[in-house]
Amino acid sequence: MKEKIKYLPIGTYAERYMKYLGVAKTARRSYAESKRILEKAGFREISSFKTLKPGDRVYRGCEDRTILAAVIGRKSVAEAGIKVVGGHTDAPRLDLKPRPLYEKGGCVFFDCHIYGGIKKYQWLVLPLALYGTVVRKDGSKVDISVGDNEGDPVFMITDILPHLGKDQAKKTRDEFFEAEDLDPVCWTTYAEKEGKGEEARSADRKGLVNFLKKKYKITEEDLLSAELEIVPAGMPREVGFDRALITGYGHDDRVCSFAALEALVESADSIRDVTTSMLMCDKEEVGSMGSTGMQSSFFENTVAEIIERQEKQPRDIHVRRALEKSTMLSADVTAAADPHFPSVDSTGNEARLHKGVAASKYTGSTSKGGASDCCPEFVAEIRRIMEKEGVAWQMAELGRQEKGGGGTISQYMARFGMKVLDMGTPMWNMHAPWEIVSKFDAWSTYRAYLAYFRD
Ligand SMILES: [Zn+2]
Repeated sequence: MKEKIKYLPIGTYAERYMKYLGVAKTARRSYAESKRILEKAGFREISSFKTLKPGDRVYRGCEDRTILAAVIGRKSVAEAGIKVVGGHTDAPRLDLKPRPLYEKGGCVFFDCHIYGGIKKYQWLVLPLALYGTVVRKDGSKVDISVGDNEGDPVFMITDILPHLGKDQAKKTRDEFFEAEDLDPVCWTTYAEKEGKGEEARSADRKGLVNFLKKKYKITEEDLLSAELEIVPAGMPREVGFDRALITGYGHDDRVCSFAALEALVESADSIRDVTTSMLMCDKEEVGSMGSTGMQSSFFENTVAEIIERQEKQPRDIHVRRALEKSTMLSADVTAAADPHFPSVDSTGNEARLHKGVAASKYTGSTSKGGASDCCPEFVAEIRRIMEKEGVAWQMAELGRQEKGGGGTISQYMARFGMKVLDMGTPMWNMHAPWEIVSKFDAWSTYRAYLAYFRD
């Protein structure tokens, strides 16, 4: 059967993606927005199904941060496994510590803890936003988002003026600003005595605590059970007169996760033999640990939940077989060669901007330490699919040997015996507050995932 595959045009896709990226600034917000898109497309929570039949659209979430959505195929999951396109939605940021408020020099600061691999200096002198959820003792929650709405204030980490920066200039990149000092200023007045002499100029956190109580109905103690994150303020923007690039916070890895979501939703209109799925997970940037990271049992358990609704007598072996028969595109970004820094390129094997989605046969570092190395058979299959659908793609390594390295969730999925190939969008400024991708590459990523689902 020869079927003509329809794709969203590149301009429409880029617009949709930029809108998503502006909303999905944390893993929780990505989850909420993805769930909204899935439900609008007819996906329902798995517990609402007694049995699953071909064509059913289903999702399963974990702690409002990790989600897997699937379109059930004609063949059972125990028989044919599932096709997965999986990425992550957490991104490097500054987390507020459990007791985040402190006073120094007459000002109040947020005490922060670094999340993910960042270059500290890039977070100085930037407008910053605060997002997150505070859970009160009675279980009720309040969502906080400050910095991106019209008229919102922002927060900022200050730096030494160049006139007095002589000593600072002698220090190395890692030395000149300590992680413990990456604390944005958040309150500078003594609220109750505003305008009354010396005291008015010396802030204490009482003013801020009162403000939080009034605005959000939370106490300082409630911040002990909160997940509050500092991220760059501002919406995604086009870069260059030709508008061919997009800069935004958290392209890594929302550019791939969103592509997986869009591809799944779009492919849901026709039923395939094999069940297709997209996975958006949390905690990739800190080693995939914890209940929402891919070292957890979430994926296995979700496969088991599907099998439970497909088999008359579901057994453990069904789950194991399903996992081994599954295949996956690990949807994560890779580095695109930056003309300013050719010394870190894996020359001849580097990804280039505007050349399409990038596949990496293996991840890891110099000695392939920590690598997930895909079998050539699966690489060949993906080559065939990309060629058949005319998707622009390139094969690439992250960078030059002995310069560093990196990994994705592929190794944690491959341990089930699945065939996993890393395939995602190449980018500039990875892990910087403002990352850059090409619209064409983002669009090619979505086309690649859609072609894989529809093959
Ligand atoms: Zn990533």
